[in-house]
Amino acid sequence: MARGHLGRRPDWRCARCADPWPCPTFRALTPAPGAGAGRLLPSLVLVLRQAIPDLRGRPEGPRPPEIVQRFLWLLNLNAEEARATALRLRR
Ligand SMILES: [Zn+2]
Repeated sequence: MARGHLGRRPDWRCARCADPWPCPTFRALTPAPGAGAGRLLPSLVLVLRQAIPDLRGRPEGPRPPEIVQRFLWLLNLNAEEARATALRLRR
């Protein structure tokens, strides 16, 4: 996998290249949907649960649905799906 290209709390930038995580390198090295990417989802959801409280509420920070779309980019969620997912993760 993308060695060292991991998100770091609390600003969720890549530990290696400092881009907002998941950075382009991490995304590029991730399998395509249908080619095993689904195995990543449980890990991504765990990370997402940490990232939402870390990132929301920052002055110019993303809103929870935007955080969901960013961290679950594999799923290509539309705005409504992202909003519903963000609400479910609040619990
Ligand atoms: Zn990176």
